Amino acid sequence: MTYDTIRETDSTVAEFLEAERARQDETLAMIASENHVSESVMEAQSSELTNNYAEGYPGERYYGGCEYADAIEQLAIDRAKELWGADHVNVQPHSGSQANMGVYLAILEPGDKILSLDLTHGGHLSHGHPANFAGQVYDIEQYEVDSETGYVDYEGLDETAKKFEPDVIVSGYSAYPREVNFERIQATADAVDAYHVADIAHITGLVAAGVHESPVGVADFVTGSTHKTIRAGRGGLIMCGEEHADDVDSAVFPGTQGGPAMHNIAGKAVGFGEALDPSFDEYAEQTVANAKALGHRLREHGLDLVSGGTDNHLVLVDLRPSHPNTTGKEVESALEDAGIVLNANTVPGETRSPFNPSGIRIGTPALTTRGFGEGACGEVADLIYEVVDAPHDEAVIADVSARVDELTDEYTLYD
Ligand SMILES: *Cc1c(COP(=O)(O)O)cnc(C)c1O
Repeated sequence: MTYDTIRETDSTVAEFLEAERARQDETLAMIASENHVSESVMEAQSSELTNNYAEGYPGERYYGGCEYADAIEQLAIDRAKELWGADHVNVQPHSGSQANMGVYLAILEPGDKILSLDLTHGGHLSHGHPANFAGQVYDIEQYEVDSETGYVDYEGLDETAKKFEPDVIVSGYSAYPREVNFERIQATADAVDAYHVADIAHITGLVAAGVHESPVGVADFVTGSTHKTIRAGRGGLIMCGEEHADDVDSAVFPGTQGGPAMHNIAGKAVGFGEALDPSFDEYAEQTVANAKALGHRLREHGLDLVSGGTDNHLVLVDLRPSHPNTTGKEVESALEDAGIVLNANTVPGETRSPFNPSGIRIGTPALTTRGFGEGACGEVADLIYEVVDAPHDEAVIADVSARVDELTDEYTLYD
């Protein structure tokens, strides 16, 4: 894709778009929620469907002119069903957060009770943080990870569930490096007669490829984002059994949204189609192998990983044991200067603040898309360690930056 037309009509925006393309090309994207979608997905997202209004669902629209919107949305739904094996799929949520909002609206009344993982332990804002609508509309209680092991404290969850008697238990997380035992959480939900919403936003791709246990057919509702490990068009989706289909569909539209973003739904259809190719399974396996290699090397350098390692696409480093005077933000900023982009993150038992926490979260989905294997990820771990160990040393930053340049030249992004 070129920005030639925008350059003619609006050179200011064109320059920013070109600069963003160069930034992605020349840096290592290690934000665990990010990926690089294919040029086909980007083409779909910038298509004429951005002009279309398709309020309603395929075959039942409120406006005319929807025959191709119908065809594309149905394709996205059918491909999603094939990828995840769900009975019913809604591909309209504009984002993962709105997918969760749709499910809450479908099954809860204001004031009802949600039990979810503490945000500083890896949960998500839309699971009930006070700054999010979920925290303001519903009554929230939180469970935690075990402070010793870093794994979800399933027994603690049982106890809290018995006391709190939630209407919904939310599983699925944003900064959790281990496999989630969805069946275990389902048993807890059954015991207290609560719904189970499994939010697989981060691991949609891993679940589709069979690299992570699937909650589909286990939990009552599965929500997700479509642009993280699954690498499709930007947005969210909801999966559930037929018995909840009508409630979910009317909670999304007209409950929380107007017209669907059909151009993004086209991007979802294209990305889901790509993910049905067997090569996607290899991609997902490699993403996990890369995170393990990265984590292994960081541990060899003496860094402390929450839970001691990873089963998925991310590692969470607790800087306190090895570098007690260094904060996550300092490291994030120094690494960005060196061309490695990741985020500071809270760690279980956080002793600083969410704005300047004690950890960093490192993900491999985007590097794996660029073709990185375990060897190259080990090398990236070495670079990360050098900066963690000397975040204010300009010679180190310059040296790491030069090596990042070599890597981004070797593993090209878009031609
Ligand atoms: C990323 C994420 C979401 C939200 O997705 P958005 O598209 O950013 O709204 C929801 N839940 C979890 C667990 C996430 O990690």
